[in-house]
Amino acid sequence: MRVHLINPSEVSFGTAVITPRWLYVLAAATPESFGTPVLVDETLAAVDADSIHPGDIVGISIHTANALRGYEIGKLARDRGAFVVFGGIHATLYPNEAQELGGAHAVVKGDGDTVWAKVLSDCSRQTPQPVYEGGRIEASEFLRARWDLVPRKSYMWASVQTVRGCPKHCSFCSVWRTDGQRPRQRTSDVVIEEIVQLRRLGFRFIALADDNFYPVTLTDLRLAEQQHNAQRLNELKAIRAERFELMARLAQLPPDMIFFTQITMEAAEDTDFLDAMKAANIKGALVGVESVTPEGLKDVYKAFNAAGDALVERLKTFRRHGVYVLGSFIFGLPSDRPETFDTTASVAAQAELAFAQFVMLTPYPGTVDFMRWEKTMEASPIKVAGIPITRRWLIPRALRPKLYWPHPTMSAEEIRGRTQSVWDTFYGLRSIWMRSGFIKSLRARLAFVLISKIYRQMYADTGIATDSARVSRSARWARWLARPCQRLFAARPMPDLKVPVAKHINRYSVELLQAGK
Ligand code: SF4
Repeated sequence: MRVHLINPSEVSFGTAVITPRWLYVLAAATPESFGTPVLVDETLAAVDADSIHPGDIVGISIHTANALRGYEIGKLARDRGAFVVFGGIHATLYPNEAQELGGAHAVVKGDGDTVWAKVLSDCSRQTPQPVYEGGRIEASEFLRARWDLVPRKSYMWASVQTVRGCPKHCSFCSVWRTDGQRPRQRTSDVVIEEIVQLRRLGFRFIALADDNFYPVTLTDLRLAEQQHNAQRLNELKAIRAERFELMARLAQLPPDMIFFTQITMEAAEDTDFLDAMKAANIKGALVGVESVTPEGLKDVYKAFNAAGDALVERLKTFRRHGVYVLGSFIFGLPSDRPETFDTTASVAAQAELAFAQFVMLTPYPGTVDFMRWEKTMEASPIKVAGIPITRRWLIPRALRPKLYWPHPTMSAEEIRGRTQSVWDTFYGLRSIWMRSGFIKSLRARLAFVLISKIYRQMYADTGIATDSARVSRSARWARWLARPCQRLFAARPMPDLKVPVAKHINRYSVELLQAGK
């Protein structure tokens, strides 16, 4: 009996950008008595059905985008006599679907880190429960990933999580509703130890795969102070101090290490934080810009973002402090008009973004937007291939609509075409080369061009193109580009690298110490 952990994907690239962290965390959660799990990441290569045998246990984690492929694998594994267990955000939201369509014997809802051992033990005794409540575990219970199992040459970046949860409440995002609004932050010791292990193996690019790396803003601190809420203020300061401590320790790692994370735009007001990021070599951050207009920001409950000139200035602040931005924009908001596309392309250029992504508004399960949209569909549900579009992930990919909200002034095809054209403009070879001007070495500049192209091929065409020929052409291109790209990102292993000690105490830690906390 073997344990298999499978990350489903309809497209395989041979080489992938970022390690799917959950595979290595659940491998760590698998007790030794079950042997070393077989890890399959289908973004590299499709699962080999013959490797699954009767009595094996197959764990599949799904999000909405890969749910359909996950169900195919689940049915296949069940037909071959295996126990099938689903987890991940989509299975948490729709456990019945995984049972009805994916052949699941069991579904894990919430965090899998601590409950996985029980699931395995029940399956081995042939008594799996239909649902396991993994809940939201504390940060001290998060497991370190089993990086000893990673095929190093298959990935460009490794991924380490430092915090789960986000205090914001954006209408299009499910993070705050599933992972919670209270940041669950790991201590710097465990994070650094994992990162050092990865550098020892030869990974020098690490994604800090957090929901929001900046969980406490200056505004949060100011509000707690104004409300004379001493307890809240101390909690916030402690979280902030831990962030600074982590960054101080990252700064002691070998200088060739580079980190990337996700952060809210408010960090631009906090130049101490940006400077600490720079010192820590956190060179890049995905910033959810979403919309360049105040109306658009209201549409997504993100009025804390800036718009217009103030937006350009805020984004440039990141750059001035050495943090390069991957700006994320949403098209198809009710207030968008044809000119919004050009304005967005121009803001992306003026703000000196290093990378950008342009996604079409899609209501995701677990979000406020989705609940609102589902309600509007109750009276007269629209179906495609007999499947309600509120369950769009079950519609065969080729038939799936690209836009789900009816827009007041533009057709879905107009929004799709204009979105595609913004991608084309931003990722034209000339534009990329101009953008890469800030990089000094030719090798690094070449890496920038390659990663820009691969990013565009993997995420733009495979995501929003309508014809399958374009999707498979993009996948071929991405496959072709990915291998040299991986080599550019790899570094010589440093098996003797030591874990740096925590020696930096910043002024927030000092305040806490003085307050006797
Ligand atoms: S979009 Fe970002 S800031 Fe908004 S709730 Fe999600 S993780 Fe938080």
